[in-house]
Amino acid sequence: EQDVADYRKSLAIRVSGFDVPRPVKTFEDCGFPGELMKAIAKQAYEKPTPIQCQALPIVLSGRDIIGIAKTGSGKTASFVLPMIVHIMDQPELEKEEGPIGVICAPTRELAHQIYLEAKKFSKAHGIRVSAVYGGMSKLEQFKELKAGCEIVVATPGRLIDMIKMKALTMTRTTYLVLDEADRMFDLGFEPQIRSIVGQIRPDRQTLLFSATMPRKVEKLAREILSDPVRVTVGEVG
Ligand code: ADP
Ligand code: MG
Repeated sequence: EQDVADYRKSLAIRVSGFDVPRPVKTFEDCGFPGELMKAIAKQAYEKPTPIQCQALPIVLSGRDIIGIAKTGSGKTASFVLPMIVHIMDQPELEKEEGPIGVICAPTRELAHQIYLEAKKFSKAHGIRVSAVYGGMSKLEQFKELKAGCEIVVATPGRLIDMIKMKALTMTRTTYLVLDEADRMFDLGFEPQIRSIVGQIRPDRQTLLFSATMPRKVEKLAREILSDPVRVTVGEVG
């Protein structure tokens, strides 16, 4: 335990919560299936970044998480990789439809980046990813969602539009990610986020990532996460 404590201190890592799983040092430690390990190797990701070392085992254990780390620290893979495992663990039910994983991001650029990252790791598993954000034809997105997918990456406004058009239901959604939560609040998406969260079953796993934790985001986190582990990497304002 002392080595873990020293390691965290050296990287300005703070972790709080009950029964926190030990951090990993390598991707092998995560117990990922072979296809996923191959996809990781293809990205030339040699070892997990500090936030990934902490977050991967927490998320893989099914816990909710608040991840606070600056831009460029590798937050995307820390929710995308466990999401693939989460989806592969679901039984394939013929009649079930709608995404298992839903990721909300503040802008279309960020949603698109996450979409690309999710595609890289899901392709080999036959997991379908749809991107839902403004600037693309609503009809095309409607058709794509109707065709079915396991992962949706969306900006909150457009996702609400699609739900209203009945392009998707979230009855099967058990993995929700709010990425760059502080920026989504800055852009005024709090009502849309609350509406989306309200439509997802309460026994879901919820992940919230943010570069900063203003009071409003803190309040949301308290309301929508269950027994989260909180991981902060670096000095965050
Ligand atoms: P954040 O969301 O924290 O801003 P990203 O997830 O966008 O960061 O990652 C930043 C960059 O680091 C991306 O180009 C990504 O491909 C790369 N990256 C992520 N994880 C690793 C890793 N384990 N090893 C090397 N590069 C990585
Ligand atoms: Mg990011």
